[in-house]
Amino acid sequence: MKYDVIIIGGGAAGYFSAINIKEKRPDLSVLILEKSLKPLSKVKISGGGRCNVTHACFDPKKLVEHYPRGSKELLGPFTRFGPLETKAWFESRGVKLKAEEDGRMFPVTDNSQTIIDLFESEVKRLGVEVMLGASVKRVEPGFKVYLKDQAFEAKYLVMTTGSSGWGWEVLKELGHTIVEPVPSLFTFNCPESKLIDLPGIAVSNAHVQIIGTLFQFTGPVLTTHWGFSGPAVLKLSAFAARYLNEKGYQAEIEIDWQPNPEIKLPKRLEKCLDPEEIHSSRYRVKGKSTFKYEFTTAGGVELREVHFKSNQSKKIQGLFLAGEVLNIDGITGGFNFQNAWTGGWLISEHLASC
Ligand SMILES: Cc1cc2nc3c(=O)[nH]c(=O)nc-3n(C[C@H](O)[C@H](O)[C@H](O)COP(=O)(O)OP(=O)(O)OC[C@H]3O[C@@H](n4cnc5c(N)ncnc54)[C@H](O)[C@@H]3O)c2cc1C
Repeated sequence: MKYDVIIIGGGAAGYFSAINIKEKRPDLSVLILEKSLKPLSKVKISGGGRCNVTHACFDPKKLVEHYPRGSKELLGPFTRFGPLETKAWFESRGVKLKAEEDGRMFPVTDNSQTIIDLFESEVKRLGVEVMLGASVKRVEPGFKVYLKDQAFEAKYLVMTTGSSGWGWEVLKELGHTIVEPVPSLFTFNCPESKLIDLPGIAVSNAHVQIIGTLFQFTGPVLTTHWGFSGPAVLKLSAFAARYLNEKGYQAEIEIDWQPNPEIKLPKRLEKCLDPEEIHSSRYRVKGKSTFKYEFTTAGGVELREVHFKSNQSKKIQGLFLAGEVLNIDGITGGFNFQNAWTGGWLISEHLASC
């Protein structure tokens, strides 16, 4: 069967691409091939089931600072379709978003199903075909797309396979370079820390540095029964993702628990620390733990091989890439979905002008 556009991967980037393409080019036939029976499964579990859709950071220059990989490439795209446009996109389709104090934006329903329902009703309304349980086995330039017992042809191919090893293998065969994937956004295991007996202490402003490196952040830190979590630790894990992977997740960190003396320390922590430890406590990191609220992969398609005006491959004309398949990732807070929305939107803009 022949389609104008085939999208492999029915996740955030795949659905957003499909809806925007079909809306701007109703004349194009658009098919999403999704291997599982439940599309948008990551959207469903995202943000603790609330879906942190984007972040209330409306200055593209500031926004790109939240991307350890992809900040340079995303600057242009964010001036065209950033969080403000994302908010307007959802709200014009009846899904109101709210910003929380820390900038994270969620649907007012606090339910990720609201986003899924919207996407599903939009593909129906516009006539995008969705085939579930359709695991693509092979792709040939041109484009020919093969399932186990079915074959399709398409003029344009959109790869939105996320962090699937299969997707990266296919893209390698098509001539792309894949930057080796490593986990990003994780918490630190510090089994020798005396604070593991005091989990749940939230320090609103601490300075954390990986000793011997320039990786350091100031922000909230949370003690856990396995080590440390909280925004400053997660940010560190994202920016140092590759370094920590190379070191086998073994490192030493130094925490200044009170870089700003005006911000009081929680009493429980103060009691446990010797006075000299307040400004300099050292902990040995021995491994990482999954941050269940959000995690992502650092790595993917080499960014120099992609046009960021259209998210089109520089290697193969007619091939487009969006979302986590690219070597782009953000820190926690809605930045990863924003990358998926922006990529999908750029593809649709390009196809609208073809
Ligand atoms: C627990 C968790 C919570 C998160 N929460 C948030 C959050 O609140 N905010 C945020 O910004 N980010 C969040 N993220 C990150 C975010 O989910 C991802 O960045 C985003 O889903 C990437 O979208 P994508 O479309 O590129 O990939 P995916 O959503 O992973 O979609 C890829 C799709 O491709 C399909 N596929 C793969 N191979 C094939 C094949 N051979 N044939 C057919 N289909 C195939 C897969 O089944 C999948 O459905 C979270 C991640 C996790 C794991």
